[in-house]
Order: sequence, then structure tokens, then C-alpha cells
Amino acid sequence: MATTAFYSNKKELYPTYDGCDLGFTFTPESTTFKVWAPSAEQVLLKLYTTGSFHEAGAQVMGIKQMLLDGRTGVWSATVEGNLNKIYYTYVIKTEKGTHETQDVYSKAVGVNSLRSMVVDLSSTDPEGWENDRHVLPDKPNDAIVWEIHVRDFSSSDSSGVSKNHRGKFLAFTEKNTVIPFTSYPTCLNYLKELGVTHVQLNPVFDFGSVNEITGVDYNWGYDPVNYNVPEGSYSTDPYHGEVRIREFKEMIKSLHEEGIGVIMDVVYNHVYETATSPFELTVPGYYFRMQNGRFLNSSGCGNVTASDKTMFRNFMVNSLKYWVEEYHIDGFRFDLMACHDIETMNIIREELDKTDKRILMYGEPWTANDGENGISGEDCCNKTNAKKLSNRIGMFNDDMRHGIKGGSDDDTKGYIQGAGHSAYNVIAGMMGAASVTFGNWANEPSQCITYDSAHDNLTLWDKILKSNWCSDFDTTDHLYIKQNALAGAMVMLSLGVPFMLAGEEFCRTKHGDHNSYKSPDAVNSINWTRTIRYRELNDYYKGLIKIRKAFSPLRDNTTKAVNDSYIVYNGQIISLTIKNDTEGEWKMMSIILNNTENACQVEFKSQYDLPKRWYILADASTASDKAITEFDKDDLIPPRSVMVLVDLESYNKINGIVEKKIEDTVEEKAYSAKE
Ligand code: CA
Repeated sequence: MATTAFYSNKKELYPTYDGCDLGFTFTPESTTFKVWAPSAEQVLLKLYTTGSFHEAGAQVMGIKQMLLDGRTGVWSATVEGNLNKIYYTYVIKTEKGTHETQDVYSKAVGVNSLRSMVVDLSSTDPEGWENDRHVLPDKPNDAIVWEIHVRDFSSSDSSGVSKNHRGKFLAFTEKNTVIPFTSYPTCLNYLKELGVTHVQLNPVFDFGSVNEITGVDYNWGYDPVNYNVPEGSYSTDPYHGEVRIREFKEMIKSLHEEGIGVIMDVVYNHVYETATSPFELTVPGYYFRMQNGRFLNSSGCGNVTASDKTMFRNFMVNSLKYWVEEYHIDGFRFDLMACHDIETMNIIREELDKTDKRILMYGEPWTANDGENGISGEDCCNKTNAKKLSNRIGMFNDDMRHGIKGGSDDDTKGYIQGAGHSAYNVIAGMMGAASVTFGNWANEPSQCITYDSAHDNLTLWDKILKSNWCSDFDTTDHLYIKQNALAGAMVMLSLGVPFMLAGEEFCRTKHGDHNSYKSPDAVNSINWTRTIRYRELNDYYKGLIKIRKAFSPLRDNTTKAVNDSYIVYNGQIISLTIKNDTEGEWKMMSIILNNTENACQVEFKSQYDLPKRWYILADASTASDKAITEFDKDDLIPPRSVMVLVDLESYNKINGIVEKKIEDTVEEKAYSAKE
């Protein structure tokens, strides 16, 4: 697989390398190894039969002295013969001592990442892989993202997935699973019905916090060891490095077959353990931002990588391109993206564009500690700097999240629980953070990731319960379900890119655990039976998704839809009316949000002529792209709910409905609020 190198014009302490062949280059006749280690005094290549010393037949096959090219800092060695499935390490001597380490550029590793492995990648392709294609949205906000952890997806009995695939990559290849003894779909079968376009997988690269031999620990996996290798605990055989690669590809292929794209959560901002990281053992002190010999810590995890240095920048770009080309990944979510510099992220965008401009890129526009970032606030990827980034590098809108539900872990209230002060934040968010009037940190709506819940913090359901002082996580109290539905409506009917934590649409609970990164399966795994218990809410989300897909302005990536929207808000009641010029679609939509405890009157206003008659697509309990009934001017919006209306005339035209006699049963005056 060809990789590319990128120059930085920054002054570098060491010679850098712009070649495309770091790591191993395999052919059946010989394999060449190259490692960039400009500060090393000696580098030895060590070959092994197995990935760890306790496996049967474990032995050292050979040790070879590598040779330095002083102009580039690259050490290399070529070994004759077919080295497919042979394990290797480097023994690197620097002024910090002599250490054995796996390859920074590893593409395969043995169990628990002790050793790297040479692999003939073409032998890891599942059947039909050559026909596998990316699933890419034309515009970022055509995507609807569902965030899921590989293990959570299927670890519960309720998943109906076969026992040996539960919690593994291969669970995604089971196509017709149901909740045992029912006909209710689970896993992939469920996703097809839900209508989301993309899954975002929590870390699936090789991380360090789960013992791949026992496989009993649970972790989200935000602790990278090998960025270019799939995680072993999600494979059925972590010992043989090629197995996880094939199974990962089978997962991707299966999702793609159902029209669902795959976004990887990438964590380039820090490594698991500084001292044992192959980066640190290979070139001590180079790959991390440091101050007076101390590792800076804007990641909050003990170190922060130096995206602003040539060789880590090259590493990030090549790594991302590798996932796109070798594994057909469709997008990336960057953890703590503000740890990275703007120049690097824009270079990544340009490089991914060479493959396809539609590959998704977005990230968290914050660090865990700005004071420890080691780069200027003007250079980091936070919301303040969004306009310096490509329009196609999105950012999570935490203002909207906060506006919708209040603080992530506390008992404060947001719009859905009736807070009055949140309306402004919420409107800005519904405009994709691209409205001149309400706030526009984003270039355009497609740069704004709109959400109310993610893996971090309380689930939306747990947050709703906490803010309402309820401790029954299985309650079916209508008030709470309505608040959940209102949140979902605000996300799905916004102009940005909708995103949700898996299960938000069926009241997923972690029983109040706000940071479940290493909590057991009992807390984290998806309990699919909740899709039955909370059926009505689940259907409501499906309907909202259909409405979103049917109305182009909600997915407009320019600011046209923002300008075509008319917003009225009086304290807590928000009405948003949007015009649509797209042929064959509803011409006008009105979205009315009422977060008060009382039913309210509908107030229509627009800068355009308003239709005389409307249909209701969504009310407090039902949502779909099919009209429920005609709207009557005396209809009220129930407390804590949304109403979605579309103009009757274009709806009838699209659906071939001919009315014998159209009577203007409503008074002209009530609807001619054009100013
Ligand atoms: Ca691992």
C-alpha cells in the first residue's frame, strides 16, 4: 500500500524522511524493514516465530544489524525468503539505553502487541473484498451517525448474536439477528430499520487496556498502542495477527453491504504509556510535546503527541490514508482534536481529498487541559478557530448539547426539561451554528456536529432521570420519554450533522454511571429488550429520520437553508419555518417546539408567503414522512413536544392526492402573517 510523506517547514532537530516505505515492505521473495531512528546508535532487527514467548514453537529466528542512512535517519535491513506471518521487533540503542520495541509503523502484531508481524495483506482480504465500496454521503450533513462500541453492540444475550461472535468484529456480519424468542431485530438487522447512515466505532485500533489473552476486562479503548492495527480482543484469535485484520474487513464489508458507512474514532492525541510506547523507545523525546524535559499533558492521559512535528504529522496522514485504502474506512472522528494543530488537520483533509472528498472528518474541538497543549491557542482546532479549517472538518457542538439537556452529568435542566434560558443556544444549534443572527462559529451547517449524547458522560436517559430526580432507570413515565423525544427531534431536525449515542432512541441506561470507560458489560452493553419496552420512542426516532431524509434544506451544507429559515421565539416556544426549492419535495416545513408545561398556540411567520393549509407529520407521539392529519388552526402544541407541519398542496402533489373541492375553511387572516 503506497503511503505519502509530508513536509513541514518547521525547524527539526533531526533529519526527516519523506519516503513512503517505513515499516516493512513485503514480497514473497524478501522483506525490507525501515525504521526512522535518527538518534539511535545501533538498531537490530529481531525475527521470531511467534507473537509472544509462551506460544508453542516460540523461538528467535535471527538477529540482523540494520544500517543507517545518515541523510534521512532511517535504518534498514532486507531479509531474503517469504516472511509472511513472521514476527519482529527492533532493538534500539540510544543515549536513553537499549530497548526492544515493536515497530511504530506496525500493520500487524501478536497477542497483546508484544511484537510486530510481517503480513501479506492481500491474503487477509475476505471473499468479495475487491467489490467492497465506500459508503460516503454527498455532503457531511447527509450523514446520520450512530456511535457504538464494538463490544457493547453484541455482548448481551439479548443481541441474539451467536455466542462465539458476541462482543467481536464478527457480530457485525450476522445479518438477521433478533431478540431471542421474539421477532424484534437486533444489531445490523436493527440498524437497517432505524435508518442511520453511518456507525461511528469507539476505538478499534490496537489499544492497551484490555488483556487480549483473558479478554475479561472492559475498556472503551482510548489508550492507543498501535495506530495501524485492529484491536486483538475483538477478534476470535488475538494470537495470529492476520485473523483480526481479516475479521475487521469482514465487519466493514458486511456494514457496507447494508448501505451503512463506518467512521473510526481515532485517538492520535496521546499514547497509552509514555515510557513503553514504541514512539518513545524508537526516538526518545521526539514524538511528544515537552517542556523542560517534562511531558506536556493536554490529553489528560499523561502525554500529548506532536502533530506539529514533521514525522508525527507524516505518521498521522499515512495512518489515516492506510485505514481508508486498506480497510475502506469512510470517515474519522478525532478525539480531543484541539490537541492537533490546524495546519496538520488541513493537510490531512487535502490528502484524504485525493482519494475522495466525501470521506468524513470531524472531532472534539477541545483538549483536556489547554494550558498543557504546547501549541498556541491560535493554532489549535477549537471552535474559535473553526473558520481556519476546511468546511469539511466538523466539530461537536457542545453549546447545543448543553442547551438541549443542561450539564452533562449534573442535575441542571436544559430546553427539554423546561428551562427558559436555553432557547437561544438551541436555536443557534438548530441553525447548524452558521446563523449570523444567532451565532456562527461554523463556516456552514455541515461543519456542525449536532448531538445531545455520546459515550462520555451520562446517557441522555440517565441525564433526564437525574435532572428530574428519578432513580428508576426502567420507568416508562411519559414525561421523561417526551423529554427524550423532544431532544431527538431537535437533533434530527437541525441543519447540522446529527449524531447520537447508540440506544439514545430506546432510553439506553448505564444506571447513572457517567464515566463507564472501564465498567463491566452489565453497565455498558446494549440491552436490546429496551427496543420493545420503549417501542414508541424508538419508532418516533425512525420517523424523524425519515422526515430528515425527505427534506433537503435540513441537509443543506451551504448557508442557504439558514437564510431561508424564519425563526420566531417567545421565551420558550420556538417556531422555525423553512422554505424548500427542491423539485419533488415539500415546499415548506414548519417545526414548532414547546418546552413548557402548557399546550400552546401555533405561531406561523415567514419572510415568504405562507401556505393556507398544512399537514401534520409529527406530533407529541408520532413522527413519520406520512401525514397524520390536516392541521386545524385551533390545534395546540401539547406540552414538552414538537410539531412538524408541511404544506398540504405540495404534499398532495407528491403523493398524487387529488381533492375534489379545495375549500378555504380557514380564515385568510390567521395565516397571512407575512410581514
Ligand atoms: Ca490490544
